[in-house]
Amino acid sequence: MHRQDSIERLQALQNAILESIARGETLAAVMTSLCERVEALAPGVVCSVVAVDGDFRLRPLAAPSLPRAYGEAIDGIPIGPRVGSCGTAIYCKEPVEVTDIASDPYWEGYRELALPLGLRACWSSPIAAGDGRVVGSFAFYYREMRGATPLERRIVETCVHLCAIAIEHEEVTARSHRLAYFDTLTGLPNRARFNEAIAQATSRPASRFGLMLIDIDHLKAVNDTMGHAVGDRLIETVGSRLAAAVPDGAAFRIGGDEFAVLLPGCDRAMRLRAMAGSILAAMNAPVDCEGTTLVPSVTIGAVLAGQDGADSVTLRQNADFALYHAKETRRGGYVRFKGGLRTSMTRRIQTIRTVDDALGAGRLVPYYQPILRLDSREVVGVEALARLRLDDGRVVAAGEFQDALLDPKLGYRISSQMLAAVAADMAQWLREGTPIPYVGLNVSSADFHKGDLAPRIVRAFERAQVPLEHLVVEITEQVIMGGRRDGIARTMAALRERGILFALDDFGTGFASLTHLLDFPVDTIKIDRSFIAGLEDCAKNGAIVEALIGIASRLGMRIVAEGIENESQARRLMAMGCRLGQGYHYSRPMPAETVAAFVGSFARSVPLAMPRPAATAA
Ligand code: GH3
Ligand code: MG
Repeated sequence: MHRQDSIERLQALQNAILESIARGETLAAVMTSLCERVEALAPGVVCSVVAVDGDFRLRPLAAPSLPRAYGEAIDGIPIGPRVGSCGTAIYCKEPVEVTDIASDPYWEGYRELALPLGLRACWSSPIAAGDGRVVGSFAFYYREMRGATPLERRIVETCVHLCAIAIEHEEVTARSHRLAYFDTLTGLPNRARFNEAIAQATSRPASRFGLMLIDIDHLKAVNDTMGHAVGDRLIETVGSRLAAAVPDGAAFRIGGDEFAVLLPGCDRAMRLRAMAGSILAAMNAPVDCEGTTLVPSVTIGAVLAGQDGADSVTLRQNADFALYHAKETRRGGYVRFKGGLRTSMTRRIQTIRTVDDALGAGRLVPYYQPILRLDSREVVGVEALARLRLDDGRVVAAGEFQDALLDPKLGYRISSQMLAAVAADMAQWLREGTPIPYVGLNVSSADFHKGDLAPRIVRAFERAQVPLEHLVVEITEQVIMGGRRDGIARTMAALRERGILFALDDFGTGFASLTHLLDFPVDTIKIDRSFIAGLEDCAKNGAIVEALIGIASRLGMRIVAEGIENESQARRLMAMGCRLGQGYHYSRPMPAETVAAFVGSFARSVPLAMPRPAATAA
């Protein structure tokens, strides 16, 4: 071939390849086209390109004139000082020119791959990226034992350069794709990728799939108490456990601590539930996060496309409703969307607004229900109950704004206002000599969640100059179940050290787990009104109450019966050994001003300090 002619053809090849790269053709396609054009330009040459991966292993990119099996055979071979021409050239960062594959030591162990194909010689040149890294090799195989011609050397000089550009371009594209579509902390596809995936899934008519939204429980508390690095490790662990529990590519990280799972083809609630079960089970093992051992906990809300919505916006929203609902009613568990959730959410938002307004206007008022000795009717304490004075002057009970109490921010504000008011009322009773040994205050999950309950209580009582032994903190089993057990136990221990007692409220309505009594240092068990209501008609209720009274007394705990409505219930309870109770039979909850008169009417010789239990199950 005429020299000028070949230079022009090489120039044309270069332009064509650069254009393919610019057009965004795949690396394999660009490299294949390069090999084919080179082979057309240099007769007798078999051309191949291999890349090297992050683990320093060969990854064939193109060799259109070699059988596919050849590429498969060298795929994944680690580079080294004697790994054929290509593996050696990459390893040594220098061209390796082998003119006799049959005898060259570089080919020992590999010649059986090449010789049967009639390949006798191989000249491989390393491909160096702009920063000097060797990213692959460009090779000429010959069917005779020979070295390269001057034209071939010229071609190779041009081609290694083109290969470097193409490979680097691919690296940049892959990196930006990774950044655009993958989350760097967990390596999972991100929100943008999720939006595309769900848009794609809903674009097909009548497409069936399941969608789950998964949110880590109490991550803020982990960040606040143990540091952001621990929080990051927790997110990472949840991400990897989630990815392992669902089909490949189904898991996404769509927000700070929120993940999504998209299950194409899933049209059965049972399957969705089973998958949620495996996810929850997968989380349930301790993990070391920067030296702190944690057990990850997540809550899941889910929808089925078709049944719970058709377009992506409705499905997302409904899955969000389900998640929100799950956080409040089944934290650490799974809730599938139901039609009613939308109405209840709207009502909830309305209630939250009402309560928010009332709190802002200082219309929260504590009411107090006396707790008495059943035999002498002496008042041994009072339980503070939150009431709201509405715009129209009506005072409504907490039950009417239960929804709002579940809202963490409002729950926190309510107990802050209650705490201040209760401390002030107690101070007043102490000043005027009203013999009320203690006041019981209900706290919510939100109070434990923030991790500052102990200092809040101490501050409020110090400000009102009321000794802390006049306070009993009442918690429900739901509060225990809904929080981080270690955090709750720590707060309780800190408060008990200051002399504050704890009562387990509404016992029997939650999980009624006796293990709570051993794990958490409570001093009093309050038996829920539902047991007391059924006391006379239901033998089982009687047996449970009697057993509870027995257990409590053996553990050194006090028992208070809630919701006593008549004398026969009171007598039955006394016969079972229960000494304390509260209920409409004695008194409805009343404003602070009426408490003194009530106590006066019942009290005979009440000791000022209530006898404290001798031992507790701390
Ligand atoms: P809940 O139990 O109700 O889910 O409350 P939560 O404390 O987990 O808080 P929520 O889900 O409402 O908000 C997520 C929190 O996660 C907010 C932020 O403090 C934290 N967070 C978000 N992104 C990151 C992150 O990348 N790393 C860490 N360490 N924390 C994050
Ligand atoms: Mg969360």
